[in-house]
Amino acid sequence: MTRRTAVVTGASSGIGAATVRALAAQGFDTVAAARRLDRCEAIAAEVGGRALALDVTDADSVAAFAGAVGAVDVVVHSAGGALGLDRVEDGDVEQWRWMFDANVLGVVRVTQALLPALRASGDAHVVVLGSIAGFEVYPGGGGYTAAKHAVNAVCRTLRLELVAEPIRITEVAPGMVETDFSLVRFEGDTERAHGVYRGLTPLTADDVADVVAFCVTRPSHVNIDHVVLKPRAQASATLAHREG
Ligand code: NAP
Repeated sequence: MTRRTAVVTGASSGIGAATVRALAAQGFDTVAAARRLDRCEAIAAEVGGRALALDVTDADSVAAFAGAVGAVDVVVHSAGGALGLDRVEDGDVEQWRWMFDANVLGVVRVTQALLPALRASGDAHVVVLGSIAGFEVYPGGGGYTAAKHAVNAVCRTLRLELVAEPIRITEVAPGMVETDFSLVRFEGDTERAHGVYRGLTPLTADDVADVVAFCVTRPSHVNIDHVVLKPRAQASATLAHREG
C-alpha cells in the first residue's frame, strides 16, 4: 500500500511542527512548509519527511510550493497567528491586514492551489487551525477574532461547496496553547508572552497535534466538523482560573 501524504503549513514551530511529528508517527509521508525553511528541514530530517519553503501571504510562493509538492492527501493549515492586543479604536490596520492575509487568505490561497492534488487523491482531508477566537471575542482581540471568525466561515463554506466530493473539512479550534504564538503577538516581549500562561497549565502543541491526528485517522466516511479544546482552567476567551 502506498503511504498517504500530509502537508502541514506553519510547520516550523508550535502546533504545525508537532502535527508533522504526530502524522509521521501515524505513518504519513509528511511535507513541512513555512517561511523558515531551516526549521522545516530540521523537523523533516527528524521524521524522514520533506521540507518546502512557503509564504502563505505570497501568491508566487504558494504557486511554487504547489508545483513542487506532488501528491497530497491531507493538508493541515497551521500557518497564522496574532499581532497586537489593541482596542479597535487604537488598532494598527497593518497588523489587521497581516492577520487577515496570513490566517484567512493563506488558507484560501493554499486550498485553491492544492485542490487539484486533493481531488486526485480520491480520499482527501483539509484540516484548518481555527481558534476559540473563531466564535468568541475579547477586548483587544478584534483583529485576530475577526480573522478567525472568517476562517470559521471559510471552513463551513468549503464543507457546503465540496459536499459531493471525497474531501473532508475539519476545523480544530484550540484555546490557550503555549507556543511562540504570544511571543509573535507581543513582538518578542517574553515577559508579556509568559504572562498569558501564568498560573495555569496551558495546552501544549502536542495536545493539539494529537487531536489533528485523531481527526485524520478516522474512517473516510467520518467528518469531524469542528473540535474545540481548551485547558481545563480556561472556561472561555475571557475567563481562566489562575493559581497564585
Ligand atoms: P507559532 O508557534 O507562532 O507558529 C506559527 C506558524 O505559522 C509558524 O510555523 C510560522 O512559520 C507560520 N507562519 C506565519 N506566517 C506565515 C506565512 N506567511 N507563511 C507560512 N507560514 C507562516 O504559533 P502556533 O500556536 O503553533 O499557531 C499555529 C496556528 O494555531 C495559528 O493559525 C494560530 O492562530 C492557531 N492557534 C494558536 C493558539 C495558541 O494559543 N497558540 C490557539 C488557537 C489557535 P514561519 O514564521 O517560519 O513562516
